[in-house]
Amino acid sequence: LTDKVAALPNDSTYFSLEFFPPKTQIGFSNLQTRLERMSSVLRPLFVTVTWGAGGCTSSRSLELAEICQRQLGLTTCLHLTCTNMKRRLVDQALEEAKVLGVRNILALRGDAPRTEEYREENGAEDEEDSNEEFTWAIDLVRYIRRKHGDYFCIGVAGYPEGHSDQSHALDQDLVKDIPHLIDKTKAGADFIMTQLFYDTDAYLKFEKLLRGHESGVFKSMPIIPGLMPIQNYTTLQRTAKLSHAKLPPQLLERLHPVRGDDEAVKGVGVDAVSEIVETIKEAKSPVPRGFHFFTLNLEKVVTEILDRCQLVQPEIADESALSDSPPVVNGI
Ligand code: FAD
Repeated sequence: LTDKVAALPNDSTYFSLEFFPPKTQIGFSNLQTRLERMSSVLRPLFVTVTWGAGGCTSSRSLELAEICQRQLGLTTCLHLTCTNMKRRLVDQALEEAKVLGVRNILALRGDAPRTEEYREENGAEDEEDSNEEFTWAIDLVRYIRRKHGDYFCIGVAGYPEGHSDQSHALDQDLVKDIPHLIDKTKAGADFIMTQLFYDTDAYLKFEKLLRGHESGVFKSMPIIPGLMPIQNYTTLQRTAKLSHAKLPPQLLERLHPVRGDDEAVKGVGVDAVSEIVETIKEAKSPVPRGFHFFTLNLEKVVTEILDRCQLVQPEIADESALSDSPPVVNGI
């Protein structure tokens, strides 16, 4: 993934899309059709596949990674959590990723799994295990590097507004996170992908802080802002609460009058998220600017934002540019 970014001209932009594994085969089949359409029309630089807490979606995540990487030839990044995961499951996921040709892992700590989902996937007898070997994301980064050397390109999570565990909402403090982000990076991370945010100033401050950090570790590393298109007012409120992202008053003022009308909310959301993209595009970057979209497996709103912000890559004759070979940009 970082090779593909490095092959882009410095002043270019790219984007990636996140998908989660559906629960049913019908869901998979619908998503596959959508993925085919989105990848051929929008041409993301890469896609990511989420991983359920504690491995509760392990086989479905790998099935979706197989569709993305192998069947559709998309550069795929598999999310992988480590807390409450048996080492066996981590090993299996990494081996399976290799077999599928997946070269990118977003290494995460994760949170406690929801018991029902976990049991469905892993059976009750595994439930007790919480592997103390994996307490933080850095443990997973180190583990992957130790076991697999440079085979995987590794991403880690960053939090423009500070990370917060739900049970410790007051702990949200960006400055406290930075030393841990430095450690994760030094342990072998190649890029940072951020938590969703709607406060552009907070993101730009975060990026500036990292770029200028005296350690120098973030100087030219891809830092990819995570953006969630707005689908409706209730989901926005819920997601912002879960991810501890601030909803700026100006955004709420625009959304509040139309909050009961989903189509109007989507319209305001497209305007608002496009403005975030445009503002970030304006800010100087030492490396090509990427944007990551948490799609929630939906197509329409993200497509409008990508069109509006001219992020869709031009169509190219050589289809291999969609796969793992270096991309061709603007026909060059
Ligand atoms: P860490 O890097 O371990 O950090 C967690 C917290 O602990 C931070 O506050 C950090 O400052 C602190 N910390 C780190 N190391 C130490 C230490 N040694 N001592 C003390 N404090 C420390 N979750 C999923 O379950 N599945 C997904 O697919 C998924 N995808 C995500 C994608 C993105 C882009 C992001 C931003 C998050 C995603 N998450 C996902 C959520 C993530 O798992 C949670 O936010 C989790 O609570 C923290 O994970 P982390 O990797 O940031 O943890």
